[in-house]
Amino acid sequence: MRYISTRGNAAVLDFEGATLAGLAGDGGLYVPEAWPSFTRDAIAELAGLSYVETAVRVMAPFVAGSLSEDELRDLCSAAYGRFAHDAVTPLVQIDQRHWLLELFHGPTLAFKDVALQLLGQLFERFLSGTDRHLTIIGATSGDTGSAAIDAVAGRKGIDIFMLHPAGRVSDVQRRQMTTVLAPNVHNIAIDGDFDTAQALVKAMFNDRDFAGRFTLSAVNSINWARLMAQVVYYFYAAARLGAPERTVAFSVPTGNFGDVFAGHVAARMGLPIARLLVATNVNDILHRALSSGDYSSASVTPTATPSMDIQVSSNFERLLFDVGGRDGAALAGQMAGFEASKAMRLTNAQTQGAAGLFASASVDGEAMAQAMRWASERAGQVIDPHTAIALSAARELELDPTIPVVTLATAHPAKFPDAVERATGVRPALPARIGDLFEREERFDSVAATFEAVSGYVAERAVAP
Ligand SMILES: *Cc1c(COP(=O)(O)O)cnc(C)c1O
Repeated sequence: MRYISTRGNAAVLDFEGATLAGLAGDGGLYVPEAWPSFTRDAIAELAGLSYVETAVRVMAPFVAGSLSEDELRDLCSAAYGRFAHDAVTPLVQIDQRHWLLELFHGPTLAFKDVALQLLGQLFERFLSGTDRHLTIIGATSGDTGSAAIDAVAGRKGIDIFMLHPAGRVSDVQRRQMTTVLAPNVHNIAIDGDFDTAQALVKAMFNDRDFAGRFTLSAVNSINWARLMAQVVYYFYAAARLGAPERTVAFSVPTGNFGDVFAGHVAARMGLPIARLLVATNVNDILHRALSSGDYSSASVTPTATPSMDIQVSSNFERLLFDVGGRDGAALAGQMAGFEASKAMRLTNAQTQGAAGLFASASVDGEAMAQAMRWASERAGQVIDPHTAIALSAARELELDPTIPVVTLATAHPAKFPDAVERATGVRPALPARIGDLFEREERFDSVAATFEAVSGYVAERAVAP
């Protein structure tokens, strides 16, 4: 399998190359040159398979040339063996039509573990036997940081430096990062907000002197391997609900468009998906883009669903490329225009290409709270605010009522106890496996929010090349 850039002007890479590179050299994102396709028989066979076996079948074509099926199976077994539920991503029925796909049984209680646990395994595998050393630098407002740290803690050939805004992440989120004491984990509390932390990370990547001394890598969802790992659970859920004989719809709480793009990939591979519902909070750039072609960023309104509080959805570029004719040069021009003016119109091909599969909705805080109450009172399910945004949208979706609708449950409610308690009166407890989080020792360094201070801190501890 070969990987090409959405902007048409970067090296064509194999799976290993695309995984280690993250972003393409022309500023674009890597996508497979062509989508593998699954026959109806191949989909029907998935119904009886475990999560790991499903993962091997679904991902094998994407890693061809870089990993054998047996190697892939070993990595998947290691990644998903750490989940607290034997089904890995269990489906839970909540009424005659609606289902929850629980993606939060990984070590840090958010769906990002599904992709990052595998990415950690892939990094270690591709670095082993080489003298390469990876320096991962990231900034986090919450969930990504802990999932990435857990995925690479203690792995050979990797150091991770994670910046978080001091005092501006929740206690659970901070402790999930700072209580990981492996020597290759470096937590940095920045005296500033998330945007400041992110700007410092960008400045390190863009500084030729600094970046040239190390092999820098990013772990945000621009990495193709993360999206690939998320394609698996669409197949897994649909097969259990009767695919390919039955079509299934999915409702996805969306921020950076990574999770729902994985659904688009599943559809491209032949999975009969009736509709992909892009559910946003009041930060609705994606809802506006999909419903009226207007992709223009406004300032972010902070909400109870911080992982969806975004201005720009980096993975949306992959959809525009794929449904807009796969014209890298044209898309490079369109994206340059967007970067200059913070606004663009989708082309007719892009709008029409998306309309066949996607629907969208923007959900406010009141409707979110109502969905949490409904799930708690009518189905005995305490759900997190992000999941509630998607469930609220799912219940309003106009669709043939015989089609099952699966809402992706992206976080454990105990990650957001205050919002859950406000809506339902129930304060969700941390699962027993991390119940001692507040007794564990914390380790982090506080660093001034300047390029000199932070890059100096990293340079002292990172390993070249
Ligand atoms: C990251 C995240 C999302 C958004 O997923 P994207 O792939 O960025 O669209 C939704 N819910 C939770 C809990 C998350 O952590």
